Amino acid sequence: MKFSIQSRNDSQSNELKELAKNYLQDFGLILDEVEPDIVISIGGDGTLLHAFHNHVKRLDKVAFVGIHTGHLGFYADWKPSELEKLVLCIAKNQYKVVEYPLLEVNVCNHTEISSYLALNEATIKSPNVTLVMDVFLNDRHFERFRGDGLCISTPSGSTAYNKALGGAIIHPTLQAIQVTEMASINNRVFRTIGSSLVLPAHHTCKLKPVKNQTFTMTIDHLQLDHNELDYIIFKVAKEKVRFARFRPFPFWERVHDSFIASE
Ligand code: NAP
Repeated sequence: MKFSIQSRNDSQSNELKELAKNYLQDFGLILDEVEPDIVISIGGDGTLLHAFHNHVKRLDKVAFVGIHTGHLGFYADWKPSELEKLVLCIAKNQYKVVEYPLLEVNVCNHTEISSYLALNEATIKSPNVTLVMDVFLNDRHFERFRGDGLCISTPSGSTAYNKALGGAIIHPTLQAIQVTEMASINNRVFRTIGSSLVLPAHHTCKLKPVKNQTFTMTIDHLQLDHNELDYIIFKVAKEKVRFARFRPFPFWERVHDSFIASE
């Protein structure tokens, strides 16, 4: 089996990376940064986002697992003290793979379509001025949004930026995406729904700029530069992200331990 290790690059994560690499090689596993079967991310959830985007072109061939060197994460849920146990499970192939849904983003202008996959979310904002976008659900006009921006998240990303915006936490086995507002303008003239919208896999959300504006778009930690666009379409992707699961750690327990209290 081939593995690669993504580190957050602080000293603790780098030390663990060296240790993990040596243990795995002692068990006969091969270090392959380009075509690994398993990617071990050491750092935080943010580190796993980087690992995901490094391997986004071969998601069907790779499984991810995360060790947290800071606080407990959603993608990084192994403790550094559990490294030996984790290495043993990997070496003996004692894990199952769970698949979570992703967000597909298609940015269209008259000449081309650029497609992206997000593990957490995509956001669209308009720096300094109000973002004005027509929102279409399944190609039917739904509302004209005015405000700071919109966040379209995956179920596993619902605990990240989406949560900070007041969106719902969605269980990652649900094939869905969530559209959440950032500071919408609501008064006697302008109106938006105000609540987050959860769309199933066969639905689409389309955003169409109303006037010529400069946009800032993000896909997870990546910033995109699309100044000219006709519309953007968001939907549940056909691709999935695969996580290596070595023991049960139910999602709601992770939510509890991350946001309420850890034992
Ligand atoms: P980052 O430092 O990598 O991430 C920002 C924070 O979000 C970190 O504490 C990170 O956890 C946490 N996080 C990432 N994915 C998460 C998930 N699925 N569930 C719960 N927490 C999660 O910052 P960045 O380089 O800008 O990374 C982009 C991510 O940051 C985005 O995908 C977005 O979700 C998040 N973000 C959050 C806010 C907000 O909450 N107001 C604003 C902007 C961006 P770790 O410490 O474990 O890495």
